[in-house]
Amino acid sequence: MIQFLDLHKQYLSIKDEIDDAIGSVIREGAFIGGKYVNEFERNFADYQQVKHCVSVGNGTDAIEIAIEAMNLLPGSEIIVPANSFIASSEAVSRAGHKVVFCDVSVDDYSISIQDLRRRVTGNTSAIIAVHLHGRPCDMDSLLQIAQAHNLKIIEDCAQAHGAEYKGKRVGCIGDIGTFSFYPGKNLGAYGDGGAIVMNDDRLAVNCRMIANHGRVDKYDHQFEGRNSRLDGIQAAILSVKLRHLDQWIDRRRAIAQRYFERLSSIPGLSLPRTQAGGREVWHLFVVQTSARDELQNYLREKGVQTGIHYPIALPDLKAYDYLRQEGASFCASEMAGRIVSLPIGEHMTDADVDTVVVSVGEFFGVDI
Ligand SMILES: *Cc1c(COP(=O)(O)O)cnc(C)c1O
Repeated sequence: MIQFLDLHKQYLSIKDEIDDAIGSVIREGAFIGGKYVNEFERNFADYQQVKHCVSVGNGTDAIEIAIEAMNLLPGSEIIVPANSFIASSEAVSRAGHKVVFCDVSVDDYSISIQDLRRRVTGNTSAIIAVHLHGRPCDMDSLLQIAQAHNLKIIEDCAQAHGAEYKGKRVGCIGDIGTFSFYPGKNLGAYGDGGAIVMNDDRLAVNCRMIANHGRVDKYDHQFEGRNSRLDGIQAAILSVKLRHLDQWIDRRRAIAQRYFERLSSIPGLSLPRTQAGGREVWHLFVVQTSARDELQNYLREKGVQTGIHYPIALPDLKAYDYLRQEGASFCASEMAGRIVSLPIGEHMTDADVDTVVVSVGEFFGVDI
């Protein structure tokens, strides 16, 4: 069976380092804050090539706190792509803003620049740029629109640790970047975790205070904040995994390369489009076909696990009934019925990749 994700196999490959790291945190009692959290924040900021990293409890909090820290006009509109995980839009509402969905491009799954231009109003204050699947979005166009309309850009990098756009790591190409360390992400903890990155000193202080009960010093609370933190055990685990991340990303890139080489000529199957100037990290490799359910069933019979990210476009979720407008339609809605995520990750052997490729070929009646 070819698993979609195999975290146990990954653990076994770094078991000694991980066990040591967890043991040290427990021995030193560095559970909350302290050495391991500070170290990871420094390591991750260096890795992402940014000045500051503020660790938080999870990737959803990261987006919410990042929005709050920017002090945007209360109730203003924030544009969110229609194809993402609900966290991208949920954080907007939680932070007291209005969600405005923007359609995505069918061939690259990310925010459609054309539709974005139509969604900007006098009340828009920011855009959530989601680097979905570990594939950077068209940041030059986003920056241009943001500049023209005085909008902030929050980069949701939950799927894009280490991804680059025109030689720069994602996260601080816009104003602020957010990450998730949910176990299944390319850099995943053994529990929840998240981080916010920024180059602006003031934003870093704001994020840190919001995430820590509105304080800098122990009992000196300047305002009501909240409690959202990465714990010491997760931080120590993440520092270990960060040392291996580039190697894991290389493997993902090599597998994606194989998929492109061997699947691109199949009629009826569309592969993801790569971004000009982008360096993808392939958190997911999402293909499209009108025979999606049949393909998924066929692959299941062949022992190949697949996923769907996401089966329902954000505007079609019950949670967003309140935003629905008569006659409005999104390409993202239709796309949700055609997408399927092929397995990708360092847990896969070359033989596994071959099995996936050959099985997909068989399904379409193409000899690969
Ligand atoms: C996983 C994910 C999040 C949320 O991260 P959590 O750590 O699960 O809260 C946000 N945005 C995107 C695009 C994600 O994939």
